[in-house]
Amino acid sequence: MLVYELPGTFETREAHLDLLWEAGATGLEERAGVIRAYFDEETAVPAAVADGEWKREADQDWQAEFKANLRPVQAGRVTIVPPWLRQDVPAGQVGLVIEPGMAFGTGHHATTRMAVEALAALDLGGVRVLDVGTGSGVLAIAAALLGADLAYGVDIDPITIPIARENAEINGVPAGRVRFEEGTLGEELPDDVAPGGVFGVVVANLYAELHDLLAGEYAAHLTPGGPLVLTGILTSKLALVRAALDREGFTGVQVREDGEWALVTATA
Ligand code: SAM
Repeated sequence: MLVYELPGTFETREAHLDLLWEAGATGLEERAGVIRAYFDEETAVPAAVADGEWKREADQDWQAEFKANLRPVQAGRVTIVPPWLRQDVPAGQVGLVIEPGMAFGTGHHATTRMAVEALAALDLGGVRVLDVGTGSGVLAIAAALLGADLAYGVDIDPITIPIARENAEINGVPAGRVRFEEGTLGEELPDDVAPGGVFGVVVANLYAELHDLLAGEYAAHLTPGGPLVLTGILTSKLALVRAALDREGFTGVQVREDGEWALVTATA
């Protein structure tokens, strides 16, 4: 990797940044009073930026570094790990293996972790679970591993579906206990997934505005008394979600917070 290091900051040398781009820089970065311009090859630079120094640095494999830094995530009685840390699941914990990739949901985000914890606190034995915005499939797979009869995950992003299916396979969840389809709520669900489209539990890690829009659908897909688990909610937007749940007749609203993120549970 070839770097041209120039004393100064983006602010003090604002007028010179364009000169670096024009000279062929492929990226600019500021670190501790030094501007670092990345180049593919050493090149002549204009006089105004000629006070810098060329340096060759070892290439960094960002992906390898990211993978090496991943740690198991504990969420209640579930421990979420990438495939190469399977052996690190403590005895007595339910191991949930997620291959980090293109779909959201490795367990490292507070919202995913809180949602898995909330699912782990429920008795899912024999229950059908609907996971809206399934991403990597993490919540549906957690539900299946925690005893759900069937976990059905939907996502509007088609790239997530094969990823979620692969994660289910890695966890050895039989095809009949977990299912993923491209889609969202408001569309008719296949009849064999849940009679009348009604589930025992609905979980959704989306965002507050979408929960507001979908609250009526959550109510329509939940059996009376069934728990609703919502996250992806910024604490600053909790009022919007509370109002939507009130409007749709949900009761027993409870809130958990982790930093700027909140998880809301309620009963249909
Ligand atoms: N469930 C995973 C988790 O908890 O880590 C992933 C959650 S990720 C924050 C949200 C997912 O919802 C994304 O995969 C996105 O494509 C999907 N999504 C966004 N809007 C949606 C909608 N209206 N219906 C279904 N899925 C949606």
